[in-house]
Amino acid sequence: MSKEPKVAIIPLGGLGEIGKNMMAVKYGENILVVDCGMMFPEEELLGIDVVIPDITYLLENREQVRAIVLTHGHEDHIGALPYVLRQLNLPVYGTCLTLGILQGKLKEHGLEREAVLHRVKPRDVVNIGPFKVEFIRVSHSVPDAVSVAIHTPVGTIVHTGDFKLDQTPVDGAVTDFYRFAQLGEKGVLALLSDSTNVERPGYTMSESVVGQTFDETFRQARERIIVATFASNVHRLQQAITTAHRYDRKVAVVGRSMINVLSIAHELGYLKIPDGTLVELDEAARLPKHKIVYLSTGSQGEPMSALTRMAMGDHRQVEILPGDTVIISATPIPGNEKLVARIIDQLFKQGAQVIYEAVSGIHVSGHPSQEELKLMINMTRPKFFIPVHGEYRMLIKHARLAREMGIPEKNIFVLENGQVLELSRKSGRVTGRVTAGRVLVDGLGVGDVGNIVLRDRKQLSQDGILIVVVTINRESGQIMAGPDIVSRGFVYVRESEPLLEEAREKVKGALEKCTERGLTEWSSIKSQVRDVLGKFLYEKTRRRPMILPIIMEV
Ligand SMILES: [Zn+2]
Ligand SMILES: [Zn+2]
Repeated sequence: MSKEPKVAIIPLGGLGEIGKNMMAVKYGENILVVDCGMMFPEEELLGIDVVIPDITYLLENREQVRAIVLTHGHEDHIGALPYVLRQLNLPVYGTCLTLGILQGKLKEHGLEREAVLHRVKPRDVVNIGPFKVEFIRVSHSVPDAVSVAIHTPVGTIVHTGDFKLDQTPVDGAVTDFYRFAQLGEKGVLALLSDSTNVERPGYTMSESVVGQTFDETFRQARERIIVATFASNVHRLQQAITTAHRYDRKVAVVGRSMINVLSIAHELGYLKIPDGTLVELDEAARLPKHKIVYLSTGSQGEPMSALTRMAMGDHRQVEILPGDTVIISATPIPGNEKLVARIIDQLFKQGAQVIYEAVSGIHVSGHPSQEELKLMINMTRPKFFIPVHGEYRMLIKHARLAREMGIPEKNIFVLENGQVLELSRKSGRVTGRVTAGRVLVDGLGVGDVGNIVLRDRKQLSQDGILIVVVTINRESGQIMAGPDIVSRGFVYVRESEPLLEEAREKVKGALEKCTERGLTEWSSIKSQVRDVLGKFLYEKTRRRPMILPIIMEV
């Protein structure tokens, strides 16, 4: 039994959550990593910029890690690379556009020279240690997306990455159905498949549908048109540009990330822009209203994005005018619904006509619905099935779907990040666990903000802070100056003088009591002040501000 060759599958992110996708595959003393994504923080992670996977396991086995292969250029698949490459400089494999987007990111982090990037094409096979890694074209909401087939001595592991089975993709790059089926015919050991849309029956609509909706909307619009979407959705940008050209409108781009992606995609040939179509913002402002389309970021209602600033009337170059048609060509990511609703309200207030999600065909998903998921299973006919990319309930539902299609229950594994699944040719078993989790990035700090800092931030954000400064004579223990109280975010000081005066008296009383009892230890005096003051303020206000006593001795 133990002589049987085994390959291990170790998810380091993206299971039980949407985002920060990362998967390790281990054979012998060799580890291959698929994707290296980040995630935007939930609201309770106050002040955190991004969340990345914990790579302790890779660092502990650094001499075994061979490379990182990328499926596509979305943040949740490449966004953690600038942080990870700094600790683990590995060769990175990806398709042309994926690496193009990545390079832009690395440049921002000053890493473009150090990173070793290998460009691959669909159907390429590269040898990485004992792995033969093959890239297979799939359609998705960013061009140049691939699945990977990892051929190991135990068998072939197919990791779909994000995909949909679009029969009429905008760029004509159809999913390589033939190759998936061929692999299925030869025998696939394990399929790891995208669970994001498992709750949706039927098929995900083709991206081309959006083109038809754009056409109708552009035909009816009498004045300016503003299209907000994800910067990385190059197909969507293409359709907006093509439609604008058809209706003899010029296109101007608003928002830094949109400008970046557009120029990379254009440069690499993934975006066809008819000559003279693109204009600068100041030129756009001089054109008649029925001659212009703006492409903008901010489809998620992000507070700093171009669309939000336009809606709030504080964008320097573009304002919303009555008669504008604003198309929000995206669905709010769970958690962003309120932000998006607020922007839509604001746009209506400015007199714009707003077309958003509720109207069908203005946005389609980039992920596979149930029938496409079934087709993927039928094409590859895997022995083992592991749902990936999804919250826990999605993984469970995807597992159920696989079971309904005849994969035996004992061959289906719903894993958690960090679990080690060992597969032989005949059987699979979870054999252990490695460190996995999240690392919080705040400004330049990676991982230095933990639970204690977050707890303080939470307290500060809820009830504010009170700083008590007092000067005490070292010998006699007598108060020489103060106590003075400074507060922020607790009460409005000018209207709360009596309360703060009373608070000062309480502190004075507490300090005197300490002297009487002969307490000289600073820490016990401080905690005495904190207790007395905390209790008093709670009684008076039902608030619990953070209390910071500062004692100076003379
Ligand atoms: Zn994606
Ligand atoms: Zn994804």
